Amino acid sequence: MSDEPTVFGRIVSGEIPVEVLAETERVLAFADIAPQAPIHILIIPKETTYRDVTELAAGDPGLLAEIVSVAKDLATRLADGDYRLVFNNGAAAGQTVFHVHAHLLAGGLEEHTLGA
Ligand code: 5GP
Repeated sequence: MSDEPTVFGRIVSGEIPVEVLAETERVLAFADIAPQAPIHILIIPKETTYRDVTELAAGDPGLLAEIVSVAKDLATRLADGDYRLVFNNGAAAGQTVFHVHAHLLAGGLEEHTLGA
């Protein structure tokens, strides 16, 4: 990554305060500032090593699995347990923050079903 911290790096360091919705030793979850669904949460690794999900999957698949596990726990706690995970990978796919993050979408997704 570049030396310039991303907005998520500044959240992890505490420079930008967020309401933490879930946390493990390696993962942090907080609400997206511009929600696209009734529940729209960002789940990120605390470390700044990985720019996108391709790098994360190759470099630390266990950490990627931990993000999925946190997503499931949040969807169970805050909705009916069903959820969608979105990783925008690359600028042309809509990625704007180059600190890997999962978008957890849950609650009222019936109207937004992909491929229906
Ligand atoms: P991307 O477009 O990179 O997949 O997703 C970045 C997400 O970060 C966007 O959905 C955007 O709304 C969210 N975001 C950007 N800045 C902040 C911030 O300062 N706080 C929070 N909570 N979310 C942010």
